Amino acid sequence: MRASLSTHLARKFGRLLPAKPLPVKWKGGVVSFTFDDFPKTALAIGGEILERHGVRGTYYTALDLANTTGSLGPMFDNRDVRAAHKRGHEIACHTFRHLDCGRTDVDTLLKDIADNDAGLRALTGGSVPVNFAFPFGGISISAKRALAHRFQSCRGIGCGVNAGTADFADLRANHVYDADDGDESFRQLIDRGRASDGWTIFYTHDVAPRPSPFGCTPARLEAVVAYAAATGAVLPVRDVVAGLARPNPALS
Ligand SMILES: [Zn+2]
Repeated sequence: MRASLSTHLARKFGRLLPAKPLPVKWKGGVVSFTFDDFPKTALAIGGEILERHGVRGTYYTALDLANTTGSLGPMFDNRDVRAAHKRGHEIACHTFRHLDCGRTDVDTLLKDIADNDAGLRALTGGSVPVNFAFPFGGISISAKRALAHRFQSCRGIGCGVNAGTADFADLRANHVYDADDGDESFRQLIDRGRASDGWTIFYTHDVAPRPSPFGCTPARLEAVVAYAAATGAVLPVRDVVAGLARPNPALS
């Protein structure tokens, strides 16, 4: 009983304890677009929208989902991963088997992530995936601590803007779904990020005329990307993390 209560509390409040607090100060703010799980439409339609606006995105890829079809539609294959990488998008890490980090022990997680890491490197000519997103947004305190060491950043699904000091073990991110605009419209989120020299991250899954509940239409993504690109910097997670590590990211 005690153990289960403790597990429950860890799961519930793990998100609240920063494991990797770091400053975010990007003059004029920066926006990132991320795709979880990599349905084919995330590149064929979503990637095309980003590229048309001269920007690139981050694809959190779980290799065990390759060549499958599920609620998000047909998923990526190896050629999609290579193509996204060649076109300048970031291939980032999810777990290999899309494990929920809030419900998996750390040793199993790290082994699973090592499999994903090796597979992604093989597909991208040795490029090392340095950023991670928690499948389902599932987090435990122990997973958060372990992955904070393992990756430069881990992205969660807690909404809001990363500004001032942000937890790079659980970066805030906002969904772009058709069914629900969330608590704050995308324009407000982008404006707030720009005004606070912060980092506004968006995520979605499939991008299709009739999207899943976890995806959006091309028109909706187009609207968010167009506004973000018209108002300032838009970069993959990889480039924001690297930029923030420099003394004056906006000036360099
Ligand atoms: Zn996922």
